[in-house]
Amino acid sequence: MIRAILFDCWGTILHAPRLMTREAAIEAFHRTLIELGYEADFKLFRETYLREAERQHREADRDYRELDYVERLRRVLEAIGLEGDTGKIAEEIWKRYLDEWPRQSRLDPEAPGLLRRLRASYRLALVTNFPDLPTAHRVFDTLNLWEYFDAVVVSAEVGYRKPSPIIFQEALEQLKVKPQEAVMVGDTLEADIEGAKSLGIKTILIDPERARRGEKPEGADAIIKSLRELEKALENLVG
Ligand SMILES: [Mg+2]
Repeated sequence: MIRAILFDCWGTILHAPRLMTREAAIEAFHRTLIELGYEADFKLFRETYLREAERQHREADRDYRELDYVERLRRVLEAIGLEGDTGKIAEEIWKRYLDEWPRQSRLDPEAPGLLRRLRASYRLALVTNFPDLPTAHRVFDTLNLWEYFDAVVVSAEVGYRKPSPIIFQEALEQLKVKPQEAVMVGDTLEADIEGAKSLGIKTILIDPERARRGEKPEGADAIIKSLRELEKALENLVG
């Protein structure tokens, strides 16, 4: 018996294409650095950023604890030999980047109607990896997301990111449902699907490329091209 649906946020019900990829973030960080009056070669900045990101992930992905982006940026600025208070500059770069999220996040056009219909039959939770709680809340305020969900769980608050079981357990507890009574819907295979699956939560992957190729990865109970196909997939899953 399915009683609850957990939704990933960005890439699933919200979109912010110019912020969401790592390359877009690197460009935004570098642009801010130049705007602040510093000189830095983009290629060097990018390569150093990628190296620092990988180093940080190697450490933090052992248990998927939340990442410290200010510390990552500070290390990048140190490594490229920037003159000045690298801690303060890193904070400013990060703050300006975060400020873009409420401006650029858009609700998927399918989401409002879909979430309202589903809420008549299911308890709904938002389960998102986002490294700054106040910014996540500003986005949810701006888009009136609160009205659709019985629980909202942000990695910055929990201290652990998907695919850690800790963040999924938090959502299940808030909804008062067992793993086998829940379905996770998301667009990222490792974080959303494998993470939820490891707890025994059913999973629906939104992945237009894989869906078109007819490729259903192990771990996903269903794969769909867009939110438009979600209700049908749920029907099939619930039986
Ligand atoms: Mg996502």
